[in-house]
Amino acid sequence: KAIHEAGWNFDNSYARLPETFFTKQNPTPVSEPDLVILNASLAASLGLNIQALQSEEGVEVFAGNKIPDQAMPLAQAYAGHQFGHFTMLGDGRAILLGEQIAPSGQRFDIQLKGSGRTPYSRRGDGRAALGPMLREYIISEAMHELGIPTTRSLAVALTGESIIRETELPGAILTRVAASHLRVGTFQYAARWGTPEELRALADYALHRHFPELEEEENRYLKLLQEVIKRQAMLISKWQLVGFIHGVMNTDNMTISGETIDYGPCAFMDVYDPATVFSSIDTQGRYAYGNQPYIGVWNLARFAETLLPLLHENEKKAIELAEEELSRFSDLYKQYSLAGMRAKLGLFHEEEQDQSLVEDLLSMMHKYQADYTNTFRAFTLGKPEDTVMYGTAEFTEWNERWQARLASQQESKAAAQQLMQSSNPAIIPRNHRVEEALEAAVNQGDYRVMERLLDVLSDPFAYSPEQEEYATLPADSNCAYRTYCGT
Ligand code: AMP
Ligand code: MG
Ligand code: MG
Repeated sequence: KAIHEAGWNFDNSYARLPETFFTKQNPTPVSEPDLVILNASLAASLGLNIQALQSEEGVEVFAGNKIPDQAMPLAQAYAGHQFGHFTMLGDGRAILLGEQIAPSGQRFDIQLKGSGRTPYSRRGDGRAALGPMLREYIISEAMHELGIPTTRSLAVALTGESIIRETELPGAILTRVAASHLRVGTFQYAARWGTPEELRALADYALHRHFPELEEEENRYLKLLQEVIKRQAMLISKWQLVGFIHGVMNTDNMTISGETIDYGPCAFMDVYDPATVFSSIDTQGRYAYGNQPYIGVWNLARFAETLLPLLHENEKKAIELAEEELSRFSDLYKQYSLAGMRAKLGLFHEEEQDQSLVEDLLSMMHKYQADYTNTFRAFTLGKPEDTVMYGTAEFTEWNERWQARLASQQESKAAAQQLMQSSNPAIIPRNHRVEEALEAAVNQGDYRVMERLLDVLSDPFAYSPEQEEYATLPADSNCAYRTYCGT
């Protein structure tokens, strides 16, 4: 009965696409489901009942042991460029249960990640370890609270089964919530292996689901390209503005909705350095912090290629149209990025010298190895003396320019400070804090450290006293920090 009271309200529009786009597949049942974390506010916004979700029967859903009525479990097919190499992929360890229709009328994919093998698993076991699933939970929720479009995390359940990686690890399943799981890689799959009609069906589906206002446009596929370029330029500018490094920007990990997806080897940068890489497998630095906008447009070019047959019947003309749209990415990105930087510096209006004001600050931060988040935090608190650059002639000169620029504004100092506070997070999920929370949860079964971390991350712009200790840097900085994916 609890399962009926939980409030699951599925529709399955993706399953109405041509069958080439998925394989019907149930999750593989597990021996001992145990819910370790549930996102109560997200559940409520989805129209779900928390008590029912937490009941024995409710938890069976998060473990993949029970399928709610109307759900239609499937694994999605997609392809993608991984570190530049094209390959067939697909959900190898994830099952889409269906689309939850929230009380607001909005539609959300509900996906179990780590729920067993699928036809797309290749050599993988279809499973996930507790640590990485909790890590995705923490970082995706932190991103959401930072105001960055992202998939979200509804729950993590232990399976009661071990999985084998370098060592034996507790298995877990993350319930991921997304505007959709349509990826650039879904289009690459359709373009490479689908019929022209299937490709068109996918593009129409994406338009209907994410951009219904464009469906009646004369060249709706060109509008689709335009809008995806815009959303990705916006998304990546937001990543850059908080120092987020995705770590594995393969085309299968770029959404059509403009949400951040796939929290594998991602991490937040401490010391400002465009060359920062955390992923242990990214040996060439392809996905380094400073490269993210360039990789973004490279991925979008792969997306544009898939749309060519839909853009114009004449291929040459189609390429021209696509190239024109792609050429706008750089200006869009710069515009969003500079607007965000202005807000971080408390500046309300555009001025010619803003670009150099920002560039000079960033190169100073790089040179003096300033912590990215804490530099803007110190500025927000009116304590530039807390930054490592303070006292240098360069900083004094730069600060005079900034202060003069602030003083020349119509808006009050208090208003500028407000703008800075709402643009500069006091805290981010620092790597050592995330590790500490995971260590306690995974090794000690103690979830209090994680819950406290989630609590302070739930309002990153609060500048509350409880957040202060979370703003401190690890003793040995981030030099040796490495993240791994695929576990
Ligand atoms: P990612 O690098 O996380 O984007 O994953 C790339 C591909 O590998 C996707 O198709 C995943 O579904 C698949 N994959 C990752 N881990 C596993 C696993 N343990 N078992 C099966 N497939 C997996
Ligand atoms: Mg992925
Ligand atoms: Mg992944």
